[in-house]
Amino acid sequence: MINIMKGTKDLLPQESYKWAKIEEEIRAVTRLFNIRKIATPTFEHTELFLRGVGDTTDIVNKEMYTFEDKGGRSVTLKPEGTAGVARSYIENSLSALPQPLKMYYETPVFRYERPQAGRLREHHQFGVEIYGADTPEQDVEVMLIAKTLFDRLGITGLELRINSIGCPECRKEYNRALKEYFASREEELCPTCRERLDKNPLRILDCKEEKCAAIAEGAPSVLSYLCDGCRKHHERVKDLLIMSEIPFEEDDKIVRGLDYYTKTVFEFVAGNIGAKATVCGGGRYNNLIEQIGGKPCPAVGFGMGIERLVLTMTAVGASFGEEPSPDVFIANIGASDDAFKLTAQLRNAGIAAECDVMGRSLKSQMKLSDKLGSKFTVVIGEEEIEKGVVKVKNMKTGEENETAIESLADYLSQKKA
Ligand code: ATP
Ligand code: MG
Repeated sequence: MINIMKGTKDLLPQESYKWAKIEEEIRAVTRLFNIRKIATPTFEHTELFLRGVGDTTDIVNKEMYTFEDKGGRSVTLKPEGTAGVARSYIENSLSALPQPLKMYYETPVFRYERPQAGRLREHHQFGVEIYGADTPEQDVEVMLIAKTLFDRLGITGLELRINSIGCPECRKEYNRALKEYFASREEELCPTCRERLDKNPLRILDCKEEKCAAIAEGAPSVLSYLCDGCRKHHERVKDLLIMSEIPFEEDDKIVRGLDYYTKTVFEFVAGNIGAKATVCGGGRYNNLIEQIGGKPCPAVGFGMGIERLVLTMTAVGASFGEEPSPDVFIANIGASDDAFKLTAQLRNAGIAAECDVMGRSLKSQMKLSDKLGSKFTVVIGEEEIEKGVVKVKNMKTGEENETAIESLADYLSQKKA
């Protein structure tokens, strides 16, 4: 027996309606905000994710699924959704489309992490990418997209945390201050953070080690190092959130797990889904497109873990809607061909119909109809076919009504409505 790989998960048929519910709401929300779908490949050239040598993030340095393909190229399975979209934006000259260009994706994401509740090696993300606008309004609209989805899914109790990590200009000064602070406690830092100290001290704020996190608590706040432009941007983001009546917390320790962020960063955090509670993380990345080789273009977006959405919905008791079930089950007594034909006709008329294809007895057909959660059951046999009339049993109330076989589709359509 070959088992599933560690940190991966099957989406089973009895669970998939939960994902369908989320996908349905994603469809609705992206339509409301006029966002178009983009899909990029599952694997890309490794260089797309590994840009230069300055990157000290876990995602890029330790967690990537990188391998050589048969042509000797270095290939990496997407560790995040943004880089592929940015590449596609440049490669397909999407800057020629009306800006801001609003896109969303749904994609598997691969990270070699230590598996635990809510942390997988293959997970799935719904993400939004908006290119071309550098305004606080655009940042807040992006947060609103996530918030609208949470509301529609009935997810309550999420906390929005925001921060600004400034631009390369104000971060120079801040990095210096951070270096000074962490250098004074270098011995207490984990080995990885000691490395980060030189290359990218900001990363230490994102370390998951308890000890480093405790030291980071006392670090200087990025907010006191913002340049005028970044400070104004951040203040305006907060004003707009207040105006939009979206509650939030300012958290000057949020830096996010990837190196490309500038100015606004944010997270939606749940209190109750185990080890990791960030359901959605995002922010602005004004320098990414240029880094990949495009003309400078401001951008902002987020990534949301679908598995964590399911966990959160379950934890707060949100509804996934009804499990899918047939509108009608056409049972038969020695008339399997007629049942088969009638079922096909009903489906063509838009009725979700089922019939037996395994030669079951009537009794076991009735049992099956019940198990499938059919809303109605119809039995056809010689007599029904002769008279052209069937009994339609409402499975919930037990009530039975007669109708002509010819008008069965109409009858069921009416009941459905
Ligand atoms: P975390 O702090 O939990 O490690 P992250 O900073 O790595 O999250 P992002 O890279 O911004 O998160 O990914 C966006 C979202 O994808 C997260 O908020 C989370 O919902 C989900 N996610 C990230 N990593 C995993 C994982 N290993 N398993 C399941 N979901 C994940
Ligand atoms: Mg992570």
